[in-house]
Amino acid sequence: MKSTREACIDLCNFQMEYLVMITTGTTVEDNETNLETCKRFCGACPTFKTNKLEKFPPQALFCARGKSSTAENARSSACYCPACELFTKDHLNIGHFCTKG
Ligand code: SF4
Ligand code: SF4
Repeated sequence: MKSTREACIDLCNFQMEYLVMITTGTTVEDNETNLETCKRFCGACPTFKTNKLEKFPPQALFCARGKSSTAENARSSACYCPACELFTKDHLNIGHFCTKG
């Protein structure tokens, strides 16, 4: 069981990470490795499949490239981003990057 001091340090670290996230914004790089990671999650996601997002630029990696060019017409349902390792590693939040940018 953690002491009060350790619990306070954990909370401080969490707050620092949050501050870094909101002041720096997304840090996901548009590269081949991240694209392959994205395909495993976006590619399997119902929102992606239903709206055939692979047919519209930027086709994938929406957290780095921005929302889909068909975002206005897309029907948003489940988002698999929270399961993606880039979502955790780069301190992203919310998800639905394909429709909300
Ligand atoms: S966080 Fe979402 S949009 Fe970004 S790489 Fe992962 S699955 Fe794709
Ligand atoms: S950003 Fe989220 S909702 Fe959009 S296709 Fe990727 S996993 Fe699905």
